[in-house]
Amino acid sequence: MDFLFFFNSLIPSWTSVSLLLGFFGYLGIAGSILPGKLVPGANLADGTRLHYRCNGLLSLLLLVGLLVIGAWMDVVSLTAISDRGLELLSTTFIFSVIVTLLLYVAGCKSNDRSASLKPHITGNIIDDWWFGIQLNPNFLGVDLKFFFVRAGMMGWLLINLSVLAKSIQDSNLSQSMILYQIFCVIYIMDYFFYEEYMTSTWDIIAERLGFMLVFGDLVWIPFTFSIQGWWLMSNKVELTTAAVVANCCVFVIGYLVFRGANKQKHDFKKNPKALIWGQSPKVIGGKLLVSGYWGIARHCNYLGDLLLALSFSLPCGISSPVPYFYPIYLLILLIWRERRDEARCAEKYKEVWAEYRKTVPWRILPYVY
Ligand code: NDP
Repeated sequence: MDFLFFFNSLIPSWTSVSLLLGFFGYLGIAGSILPGKLVPGANLADGTRLHYRCNGLLSLLLLVGLLVIGAWMDVVSLTAISDRGLELLSTTFIFSVIVTLLLYVAGCKSNDRSASLKPHITGNIIDDWWFGIQLNPNFLGVDLKFFFVRAGMMGWLLINLSVLAKSIQDSNLSQSMILYQIFCVIYIMDYFFYEEYMTSTWDIIAERLGFMLVFGDLVWIPFTFSIQGWWLMSNKVELTTAAVVANCCVFVIGYLVFRGANKQKHDFKKNPKALIWGQSPKVIGGKLLVSGYWGIARHCNYLGDLLLALSFSLPCGISSPVPYFYPIYLLILLIWRERRDEARCAEKYKEVWAEYRKTVPWRILPYVY
């Protein structure tokens, strides 16, 4: 691909702008009107709580259903995204810049004193734009932080499905592509099935909404996590049966550890007596779980996520490092995140955390790290 062609492919067209705005419009309407469990968010500094309608799974299934019907009636092209990958990437990037500049201006002008909307201004324009000014800004009653995370995860799936449609259209569908698609569909559907867990994550509770979060959700997640799919469109890989079986094992083990560890902690926080693997939980200082995955390593959930990320790349073989971008990025991110979380927990739980460290000495991978 020469430079001029690459540059031209990045120029947004009205089609890509319409696709993006249509997607956001659908998500705004579907998120507001479709039924879903109303989950209370964390207690904010002023004692208030936001409520999140967790109807992401229904919104996603309805959208995919509408697109399939649209394609069948010949009014929608399933390859619309894969035909315009770079254009959509730049359009989404420009959108992220514009929307965060608007959030910056709205935040600076706000006189609201509530914990959600109170402006936090440092005076450094770059800092304030990057990290955001308000905790939970909304637009027409839609909580933007929750909205953008949802858009990013759904965008990842839509890109993948469009890449799949393109492979079928070009008679280029490979076993590798099928494996990659199945793993990602399960992971993303699982994410929306457990969408309420999202309401207690650090990003939703504590981060203000600025460029860092909006770019991460709208550009980074959908466009970099899907690199394997794009790569498989133009590269052929022959997998042996043993390689396919090994790949499936990495995925299944990763999924069990990832979902199991996160679920055990979630259940423990809701009910500290909830059984773990059929037994009463062992607890340190009345606060920290040492049973199940949390007794194997202090962040077994990160191990599960890393195995999953690896399983998304293994279908691409080992001829190129490009499809390994996601697991490598995630390894760096989660090692860094684990260190920050460790420091936060040591500060919060003091001697209870020290005892937990003694009982469970491994950070992520037993006997290795
Ligand atoms: P965790 O879900 O691991 O939560 C860490 C917190 O859990 C700690 O701060 C502490 O909070 C509590 N905790 C820690 N140990 C214990 C214990 N033994 N018993 C009870 N509570 C404990 O953190 P994340 O939000 O970082 O990760 C959530 C998931 O999201 C992970 O599976 C991760 O892999 C995934 N993730 C994926 C990313 C991606 O790009 N794919 C990016 C980031 C995360 P408290 O103060 O409440 O006790």
